Amino acid sequence: MTLFFVATKEENTQSLDWAAATEYLLERTGPMTSTGITQMSGVLYSSLADRENQQPDLQFFFNGFYAECSATGAIGEPVGDCPQKGRNITSNAVSLRPRSVGYLTLNSTNPLEPPLFFPQYFSHPDDMVMVKDGGRYVRQIMESEAIQSKYGVKLDPAYTYVCDNRVAQWSDEWLECMARWYTDPQNHQVGTAAISRVVDNDLRVYNVTGLRVIDASAIPILSTGNPQGAIMMVAERGADSIKADWSQ
Ligand SMILES: Cc1cc2nc3c(=O)[nH]c(=O)nc-3n(C[C@H](O)[C@H](O)[C@H](O)COP(=O)(O)OP(=O)(O)OC[C@H]3O[C@@H](n4cnc5c(N)ncnc54)[C@H](O)[C@@H]3O)c2cc1C
Repeated sequence: MTLFFVATKEENTQSLDWAAATEYLLERTGPMTSTGITQMSGVLYSSLADRENQQPDLQFFFNGFYAECSATGAIGEPVGDCPQKGRNITSNAVSLRPRSVGYLTLNSTNPLEPPLFFPQYFSHPDDMVMVKDGGRYVRQIMESEAIQSKYGVKLDPAYTYVCDNRVAQWSDEWLECMARWYTDPQNHQVGTAAISRVVDNDLRVYNVTGLRVIDASAIPILSTGNPQGAIMMVAERGADSIKADWSQ
């Protein structure tokens, strides 16, 4: 789920503007030295987490949007007409051990046609419990003395009004409403051609000669975190396996 905030103490924030670009080019200092959005992340335990085995099941991302928008890119252009105003901050509370399982089906016999994708988010009730726990952590962080005294962060009404009109802010029902409106899945799909179900340990498709699946779909269950590292390991394994076959 993504929650949207604004910083009311703009004077304590920095701008990504021409002055910042100049500072970076001349001094190599200032806000442009940051690696940009998603530079801060962390993991925590939901109420359903396996704490005994130290398996955090929630991940958090924090994004700050502080570029001065520009219609033409011209130096000194007035920003008054920009639709994007203020200092927007988003925080994503992400379930790392989702119980809901989606599926893919073929849409056509034409291999160039995209398949049909049914993610089935929140089809298992535990996922909503985890994500709502994540939302409560986000509240704790955003309402902390450190964040409030410096940035005066508040929920952004442009996003919350949909749920504010139905139930009280931060109630269980409100968190569920926000999770359903702003589900924001993290594109970490795996397992559609999983090892032991569709492919063997050497990533060869069962009962089909000369065909391997070497990508995220071969990973049977989601890694607890961003999957790119695990996918590269699958790729390395697949490459080794092909080389071993051809060297015989
Ligand atoms: C917006 C976004 C942000 C993400 N951020 C992160 C992150 O920060 N960290 C992380 O770990 N993961 C992240 N992920 C997830 C990660 O990118 C994916 O899990 C990963 O790329 C999947 O790897 P893959 O090799 O299985 O598939 P892909 O990377 O999708 O590769 C499939 C390739 O096959 C090609 N292809 C498709 N059809 C054909 C065809 N018919 N013929 C030939 N080629 C074809 C495609 O062009 C593509 O190059 C993110 C995903 C998205 C969408």
